Formats: sequence, structure tokens, C-alpha cells
Amino acid sequence: MTNPFQLLGISDDVVNAVKDLGFETPTPIQEQSIPVLLEGTNDFVGLAQTGTGKTAAFGLPLLELIDFKVTKPQALILCPTRELCLQIANDLKNFSKNVANAHVVAVYGGANIMQQLREIRQGVQIVVATPGRMLDIIGRKAIDFSNVKYVVLDEADEMLNMGFQDDINDILSTTPDDKKTWLFSATMPAEVRRIAKNYMDNPVELTMGTKNTGNVNIEHEYYIVRARDKYAALKRIVDFNPEIFAVVFCKTKLDTQDVAEHLIKDGYNADALHGDLSQQQRDKVMQRFRERNMQLLIATDVAARGIDVNNVTHVINYSLPDEIESYTHRSGRTGRAGKTGISICIINSKELGKIRQLERIIGKQFTKAELPTGFDVCEKQLFSLVHKVHNVEVNVEQIDQYIPRIMDEFKDLSKEDVIKRFASLEFNRFLDYYSKAPDLNAAVGDDRGERGERGDRAGRGRGSEGYTRLFINLGSVDEFTRGDMLSFICNNGKIAGKSVGKIDLKGVFSFFEVEDAVADKVFEGFKAVEFNGRQVRIEKSGDGGRGEGAGERRGGGERRSGGFGGERRSGGGGGYRGGGDRRSSGGSGRREGGSSSGGFRDFSGRSRDEKGGNREGGSGRREGGNREGGSGERRKKW
Ligand code: AMP
Repeated sequence: MTNPFQLLGISDDVVNAVKDLGFETPTPIQEQSIPVLLEGTNDFVGLAQTGTGKTAAFGLPLLELIDFKVTKPQALILCPTRELCLQIANDLKNFSKNVANAHVVAVYGGANIMQQLREIRQGVQIVVATPGRMLDIIGRKAIDFSNVKYVVLDEADEMLNMGFQDDINDILSTTPDDKKTWLFSATMPAEVRRIAKNYMDNPVELTMGTKNTGNVNIEHEYYIVRARDKYAALKRIVDFNPEIFAVVFCKTKLDTQDVAEHLIKDGYNADALHGDLSQQQRDKVMQRFRERNMQLLIATDVAARGIDVNNVTHVINYSLPDEIESYTHRSGRTGRAGKTGISICIINSKELGKIRQLERIIGKQFTKAELPTGFDVCEKQLFSLVHKVHNVEVNVEQIDQYIPRIMDEFKDLSKEDVIKRFASLEFNRFLDYYSKAPDLNAAVGDDRGERGERGDRAGRGRGSEGYTRLFINLGSVDEFTRGDMLSFICNNGKIAGKSVGKIDLKGVFSFFEVEDAVADKVFEGFKAVEFNGRQVRIEKSGDGGRGEGAGERRGGGERRSGGFGGERRSGGGGGYRGGGDRRSSGGSGRREGGSSSGGFRDFSGRSRDEKGGNREGGSGRREGGNREGGSGERRKKW
């Protein structure tokens, strides 16, 4: 039987490669665009969401059109972020693995430029690049684009939103006039239209899905809660979905960090991704998420751009984005490659109007959902556990030897008693936690003196009595063990080990306690300490407006029942999610080794290259203060 990709005009070598990737049939966007692009004679505009198979839609025709006998750049693909750049290059390498002499290079900030220059010198036909680094390389006269026949502008709207317009102009001016330009964009604001007009000659236009319409596989839901209950609501949603694998969006780096930090503290397998992380830290976070060694990725809009992770079950809008269009990008992180997904908005009643606006824009209705009760969560968790027990793979060889002893231990219990006890082992924790859980659903207009979003923010644990709790921007990703950290603190702070209290080693940062009496000394000692070329910073936990007690900030010292402190999730390691799945291997439950969390403020000691990477890869050049959300002036605000 002829392969459907062959029918579209793709050659055997490439078809075999995509078959190896598990592509059996072309996605709708591939079906529509491959035949058009294969002609190689047209400019092209494709209005398409991410996650629809766009890369193969332009990548497969490119592989047919390029002359691989000639080792000169013939195709240039520009995209907004480092993550997307790596992904596209990787996809193209996979698609072309059976094609002789095919060379693809990824060019992006935040990585060693020398290595990229070396690869270019060795000869490539396809260059996948982020604009900033590409321009740098062009400036060094290290690449010759005179043989370029095809330029792809991927996620053009995002590139414009990130302020790359001038860079794109400069880059394109170094390519031949008769090249063909293929532009892909999830949305079609006037600026993208203008690009199409300026750079293209009578382009073929294809709309895959309705204009501005979110992916049809995504359902949209919203929950109305009081602002101070947002975090508790988030946890309840997560607890009600034991198999959740989600991206949680916050508006600012600080919120991202706070939410991640509190989720980790509460025993969830979460981590933060935002522009203040170094490239290496972001890579580690992303790798853990991709490998599903992490369940909840807490991200800012900019940092999450271009993330392509399959099987994300939920996108949770912990805060609605500032720009309406960001919602499409956020929700597009789920429902990829034909899978279904749910995009959830946790809002307060004043934001209902924004939901209505979103409905109009994406042309889909949002369902008002009710937060489950504590009882619902317990029931859900219980049956999730029951199913896990039922389906667990039994290693007969290993377990058989213990069965007689186990049976002996249980001999005075009936089968029903044993089952009850196994179930209770885990269930009790949720029951304890949720037995007095309040109803978090708020009625429309029920704002009860809320003071806006500040209630979102996490409170931080105070130090133990007599101890000052300090934040340090080093953690397990820097390969510190608790012992290493202890010596590091003692050596630099010039204090004895006995003055150091609890050390809470996180991923990219840590907390530690020192006796109040030596706190100043420690600050003094750490004034000019560097680690691996980075300036080490310590701060009093909660400094910089990050206050320790959420209650304090909320005014009147009110401590909500389900606050960051209050709704601590049941127990320590293990937990329902622990039961033998990869996320919690090694018995460490949700807080597994290498779990890095939260984030970082700026490292003044960061290298230039890393800063470049941040800019391109996520934090965006327009980043103002703490906001990462992509505040492009052109974007439509609410
Ligand atoms: P993209 O929109 O190119 O980022 O693709 C989204 C995801 O869909 C990627 O993980 C691709 O590997 C996958 N994908 C692309 N085309 C196909 C196909 N024809 N069949 C199955 N999966 C695909």
C-alpha cells in the first residue's frame, strides 16, 4: 500500500524517516501545504496553530527542494525562541536522517557561538535560527546566504511580538531577492499582514482552522474563586486530576517562582521556568518536563514560547495573560498532535468579562466549572490509587519469595480488611487534609474586599525560632549536596557548622537557616563570593517585597484556611502519585532528586552569552521589570 506521505510527493528516504517517528498519516496542515510548497515556486502564508504538525508541513517539502549535493545554505528558518529553534532543527535532522550529505545547523543565543560557527564552516544546507544570534553571525561575515532559495518565518507573530522586526529585515536583506518566503503564524495581526505584503509576491494563503480559533481539540473551562483562594484552587484542580501533566501560566516571574516554590513545599512535583533562569537552568527544567519527571511546569508567557511537549493534559491560566492573543499561545501547549486537552482559567468574578472577550475571539464557549469539594477529591484520589494497584505490574519472580511471609502477617485479616488497610494507607492523608476543606467556589460579584492579585502571592516559611532563614541562589542543579552547602555556608560565612540550622536544598536555589546572632556575619561573608563565575547572592527569605506571610500581605493578618501555609498537602514522600510511576521513582515521591524549583532573580555575574540566550530564548527584550508576559505595544490588551 502506498504511504500517504508518498502520495503527497515525499520521497522514500524521507517517508521512511517519518514512519520511524510514528507519523502514519499527514496532519491536515501537512495534507494542505505539502503539495503547494513542493512546487517550490510560490511564496506562502499559513495561518496555523502550533502543535498541528507545522514543522513537517514545511520541513518535508524543503528536504525535497534542496540540492544536498551542494553544501551551501539553501534554506533559512527563523523562529522566535531557542527552544523552538532546537526543536525544529532536531525534527529536520530526524526527517533527513536517510538523506545523504544533509546538514542542518541550529543557531541560537545562549549557547557557544564558536561551536555554531564551526558547524557552519563545515558546510550546511539548512540553517534554523533565532534572529539575534543569526544577525550576530551575519555581522561576523561567517555565513553566505547568496544561495538561499527558501526562507521560512515560523511563528511570525511571536517574532514580531518579541521585537525582532528589525532583525528580520536585516537578515532577509542578505538573502537573494528571488528566494521564496514561507510564513507561518498562529494569528494574523496587521503587522504580520504587513510582512507578508512587504516580503512576498502574491503568496498562496492557507488557513488551517478558522482564523484566530484555538485548536479544536482543546476545551476551555473557567473557575471563579476569590483571589486569595487561587492557590488553594490550583491545588484542588491538580489533586482532582491525579494524572495531570500541565503547564501553569503566571503573569510575572515572581508569581511563577512563588507558585512553584509553594507547590514544591506542599509536596508537588513542580518547577518554574522564567527568564531569570540561566540557559542551563532552563534546559534542565525543560528536560525534566519533557521526560515527564516533573508534573507541573510553572511558566511565564515568554519563557514558555515554543515549548513543544506532547501529551500536556492541561494548561492552567493561574492569571489571565495581559494580552488577549497570548491566550491562544498558552492554550496551544495542550491538545497537540491530535490529542485532546483542557485549558483552565482560574479567575475572580471581576474577570468574567475577559472570559466573554476570549470566547468571542477564539469563537468557542468556555464552560464554567465548579471546583470539586474535598470529598470529590478524596474519592477521585482513592479510585486512582485503586486503579493503580489493580494495574501495577507484578514482578512475580521477586515478590514470590516474600509471599508466604506476607500471607502470614495478614493471616488474621480478611481480604476486605487487607484492602481497606492498603487503601487507607494513602487515602488517610487526603482525608486528613480535605476533611475540613472549604468550598472555594465564589459567586459572581463575590469579591469580599479582595485587594486584587496580591492575594495570589505565596507566603514563605519563616525561619525556626532563633534562626534567620536565608535564600541562596545555588542549589542541587549546581551539584550541591546538603553537606556541600553546609561547608559552603560555613567557609564563606565564617561560622561554625552548629550555627547552621535547616538546609532546604532546591533545584536552582536553596534556603538555609543560621542563628540570628550570626546572620549579619553571614551576609558580610557572602558579599563578594562567586561560584562558577556567577555571583552568589543571599537574601533574607522574603526580602524584596516577597514577604513571608501571605496573610500579612493580604491585610488584617487574615490567614485563609486554604492558604499557602494552610493547605499543605498530605504527608511527605510517596503519595498517590508515588505509586511506581516514573515521576516518583526512587521512592522519593513527588519531590524527587534533582527537582529544581522556583527561580532566580538576575545574576549579575551571568555571562554575556547567557544573557543573550535569555533574551532570545524567553525573557524577551521588552521585558519590563518583573513582567515577562510580552508587553509588545502592538498587542491587543483586554
Ligand atoms: P509541530 O506542530 O510541528 O510542532 O508538531 C507537533 C507534534 O506533532 C510534534 O511532536 C510532531 O512530532 C507531531 N507530528 C507532526 N506530524 C505528525 C504526523 N503526521 N503524525 C503524527 N505526529 C505528528
